[in-house]
Amino acid sequence: MLRLLYQFPSWMQRLYRGVTWRRRDTGVVYLTFDDGSIPEVTPAILDVLAKYGVKATFFVVGDNIRKHPHVYARVVAEGHRVGNHTYHHVKGRQCSLVEYLQEVDACEEAMNGQKSDVRNQESEVRLFRPPYGKMTFAQKRAILERGYEIVLWDVLTHDYNRNYTPEKMLRIVQRYTRDGSIINFHDSVKSAERTIEVLPQVIEWLQQQGYKIATL
Ligand SMILES: [Zn+2]
Repeated sequence: MLRLLYQFPSWMQRLYRGVTWRRRDTGVVYLTFDDGSIPEVTPAILDVLAKYGVKATFFVVGDNIRKHPHVYARVVAEGHRVGNHTYHHVKGRQCSLVEYLQEVDACEEAMNGQKSDVRNQESEVRLFRPPYGKMTFAQKRAILERGYEIVLWDVLTHDYNRNYTPEKMLRIVQRYTRDGSIINFHDSVKSAERTIEVLPQVIEWLQQQGYKIATL
């Protein structure tokens, strides 16, 4: 039962075939942060990552890049990987296929407009994470056809939920992290306090376990 609460159940994993939940790498785990980049939280997360010499992956919202280009630029300049999280953080089921793809394209444009100045990531496969972890089958298929790797996660910290204390979040990480795990955090106002508090503890625990923390 606990497993169902903190991870996607297996029937859902089958529905999302073709999507990455976990990488097959031994001894490596991946930290991911969704919904930034925003001045209230992202710089504090970058400071923690820099302190531990850790690189992470940020799934960014295009409209935040427009509003806070300098924050996004810092994420890229410090060597973190960035992925597409749509322009307005839209729900797949509330958009037509055309609208959803426009959201993805607009986010990509915002990312590229910034990125080209700082680092050339042209050779890398583009990453996409659907807001709320949900999209329709048609949307999924179209995004895969465009060559994106769609990345979800296998460890959800629930950092956006005020009922989850940093202690509880750390226990979830300790219980569910395995080789290749993709751990989900947020750089959003809602999660800021909890995420910033637990992040050093999570990194220290992962490093004590001997995991290498890498970008996707
Ligand atoms: Zn999101």
